[in-house]
Amino acid sequence: MKHFKIKEKSSECRARTGVLKTIHGDILTPTFMPVATQASVKAVSQNDLKMINTQCLLSNTYHLYLRPGLEILKKFKGIHGFMNHNGPVLTDSGGFQVYSLSKLRKITENGVHFRSHIDGSSHFFTPEKVIDYQSAINSDIWTILDVCVKNPSSHREAKEALRKTKKWAEKAAEHFLKVSKENKPSKKHLLFGILQGSVYADLREEACAHMKTLPVDGFCIGGLAVGESKTQMLDMIKVTVNKLPTDRPVYFMGLGSPEDIWNAIEQGVDMFDCVLPTRNARNGQALTSQGKIYIKNAPFRNDNSPLDPDCDCETCKNYSKAYLSHLYRAGELLSSRLISIHNLRFLIKQTEIIKKAIADDNFKQKKKDFFDSYFRSSR
Ligand SMILES: [Zn+2]
Repeated sequence: MKHFKIKEKSSECRARTGVLKTIHGDILTPTFMPVATQASVKAVSQNDLKMINTQCLLSNTYHLYLRPGLEILKKFKGIHGFMNHNGPVLTDSGGFQVYSLSKLRKITENGVHFRSHIDGSSHFFTPEKVIDYQSAINSDIWTILDVCVKNPSSHREAKEALRKTKKWAEKAAEHFLKVSKENKPSKKHLLFGILQGSVYADLREEACAHMKTLPVDGFCIGGLAVGESKTQMLDMIKVTVNKLPTDRPVYFMGLGSPEDIWNAIEQGVDMFDCVLPTRNARNGQALTSQGKIYIKNAPFRNDNSPLDPDCDCETCKNYSKAYLSHLYRAGELLSSRLISIHNLRFLIKQTEIIKKAIADDNFKQKKKDFFDSYFRSSR
């Protein structure tokens, strides 16, 4: 594939490094994408994102469409101008948000009617409209509207959702080609298809067999990390990656614990996102190479060491746990910013450590080193 080049492959597992070319620059994979749902990574500035070596941001069609609205984004020629971000941006189609946030959702053969979670207004998303919306947002990587199901779901419910998802994917891919021709961009936007199928191996295989017949530039594993067991999740990753062509990137939607990222990369996944590193940061939880810590815990009140001695972020270079503990206890806003920067950097750095392990072909040993250190003690 012209837009995705694999650089190195592990001889021990399916892990690989690659370069994904987008309009706003190259994404070095594997990568973790900070989540900018509403055109903002919560509590973190553009400069902060550069400092932590962000490769790509994730934003969301559902949220941007409702607020600020596409007309405002068009005035800025899209999300990059609006939020002053000049790196790659991937947008989620909004299928999951329509499912999880909106009221009175009604799915028809052609799309989904829903009411806004903000003001109750009525809207109708179709696979074609969602392509047009992402054209207005002008993100680098677009995704296809899908039908999400609750977890657990019966095989019958998951099969019906997959039937619609497949039909919508065909419509979206066709419309994407039309829009791409009309826009005539100097560099092409990329389209990723979303794979559904809940925890049923036969449905996941059916989703892959169908999606690989469409002209998509990458594959998103959707509908997992939603409450199923870790074993089920890993089994579904294996089933999926086994059935996909290896020439395009694979993005696991909504996965963001460091141990899950190591496990998924081992199975051949290339891209990740998750709101937890920033959400947990606002609740005083930090990820460190020695495990998770809760900064409000008593021992940290007079601890003059950084959050993580192995970290190179602004927070760890400049501030002690004692100061961060004080900020958190005092309800100071700076606490959210500093711990968010650290948690994002921690995950991005994990992907850098993993890239090196793949290049050095010692993935299994480095994975063991990480697990031994991360789970050595729980504090
Ligand atoms: Zn740090």
